[in-house]
Amino acid sequence: MAQALYRKYRSQTFEEVIGQEHVTTTLRNALREGRIAHAYLFSGPRGTGKTSTARILAKAVNCLHPDPAQRPDNSCPICVAVNEGRLVDLVEMDAASHTSVDHIRELIERVSVAPAEARYKVYVIDEAHMLSNAAFNALLKTLEEPPPHVIFILATTEPHKIPETVLSRCQRFDFRRIAAHRIVEHLAHILAQEGRDAERAALEHIAFAAEGCMRDAVSLLDQLLSFGGERITLEQVESVLGMVPAATLARFVDAMMARDPGQMIAQVQELITQGTDLRQFSQQLVRYLRDVLLVRVGGREVLPDLPAERAAVLERQAQGLSPAFLVQAIKRLNAVASEVRSGVDVQLALELALVEVVSASRTAEEQQPAVASASSAGQAPAETPAEAVTAPTPPAGDAEALERLRRQWKQVIQWFREHRRFKIQAALGSARPVQVMGDQVELVFKNQFSLDMVQRPENLRQVELVISQVLGSTYKVACFLEADYQPGQTTSTGATAAPPPSKSRMSEVLEDDLVQEAVKRGGRIINIQ
Ligand SMILES: [Zn+2]
Repeated sequence: MAQALYRKYRSQTFEEVIGQEHVTTTLRNALREGRIAHAYLFSGPRGTGKTSTARILAKAVNCLHPDPAQRPDNSCPICVAVNEGRLVDLVEMDAASHTSVDHIRELIERVSVAPAEARYKVYVIDEAHMLSNAAFNALLKTLEEPPPHVIFILATTEPHKIPETVLSRCQRFDFRRIAAHRIVEHLAHILAQEGRDAERAALEHIAFAAEGCMRDAVSLLDQLLSFGGERITLEQVESVLGMVPAATLARFVDAMMARDPGQMIAQVQELITQGTDLRQFSQQLVRYLRDVLLVRVGGREVLPDLPAERAAVLERQAQGLSPAFLVQAIKRLNAVASEVRSGVDVQLALELALVEVVSASRTAEEQQPAVASASSAGQAPAETPAEAVTAPTPPAGDAEALERLRRQWKQVIQWFREHRRFKIQAALGSARPVQVMGDQVELVFKNQFSLDMVQRPENLRQVELVISQVLGSTYKVACFLEADYQPGQTTSTGATAAPPPSKSRMSEVLEDDLVQEAVKRGGRIINIQ
């Protein structure tokens, strides 16, 4: 049943082959000029039109239409016979499923037999990389001195497994994954022909899930149509694909807007309980955020097919998230899929990515100094930035050690990344050293979640070790929530008098590319929060 629609709407002409114009144009031009090769290799992902194109080519070289440019015409006896699957001169075999390996070898050895009714005897060998060595040898022998009336078309998803000696005798064509919008167009075309209807978003989801494979997309459509019903909806597609409903994604992005990693982690737990595939969830989340980004940048008109209710949610979320945050989140979450492929625990990878995205954005937002352009900000363009800085009076402490730690803070975080302690790495990403007093380093955290993570005894021990290594002496680490932090609250033993940390804060800020750029353009720093 699921194959029926695919067969029915299989492309019958070169023009109908979707998304492989680079192949079909070349083939058509060659045929028009009478240039016919003895062996073709069609390589590329599954479901991208290789065997359909092979059949079209078989028809084209044999079609009886007098004008080569009109072949295949799909109306002459030869074309009709191919379309009905009864042309004896078209031999199709699947090297992967063929029961007898010897059978294929024998077939290849017998190719000298002249075609029965057509001009050429065409052998289409699907999954050609699965041929036995004996079969490849027979093929090679034939290709070394090909009988004039024989054409081989090898189709494969793994061309690197075909012997070089065979490859070098084939004209090679590489098929590509089909773009999602081309798949959507084709599905819409099929629906129109069938007198059925679907939400645009439903078709987009099918195309997205098919990953460039038209056969999968059409089979899925077939399955959905067999359910009956007025119109294929996004919800139906989601349920057939085991996808996370859009409403769940929306709730998730709301937690992201609230910069609430705890809430996001809780939702991940809930998804696991429901048996959701987290990898698929990550992909969907990326896609959802992409939509938010599109709406953020281009307005809701960018997604005209979105149901009004969902568009309203996206619009609200787009207003609450900056493009920079969205780009960052999309990049980071996109990387989760590849991390997972490399064997990392998917839950861990996802949670880290989420915490990182949220923490990084908070840090960025809070560190970004207010910059005003000189022209609008005042009359004293010669004023140096430092003079404009107002900073609270700092407590006494080991300023030199603090400065060193601040300079190397990224390396501290990097250490945990390199040692695959991603949770600590992520948590430290939302922390910064604020004080070094005697043998104690004080860190402030932007959120309780990260603080709790580092506070765990085994984690704290590691953080202390790494910091001690960086500073070249043994240190203890005390953690505070940034909002609650009072400088010098834990110790009153005055250490070395420190220069105002505003200086180092200042240099930190000045190192920021964005700020440098702004200063270059005449901006000046008026305050550092
Ligand atoms: Zn024909």
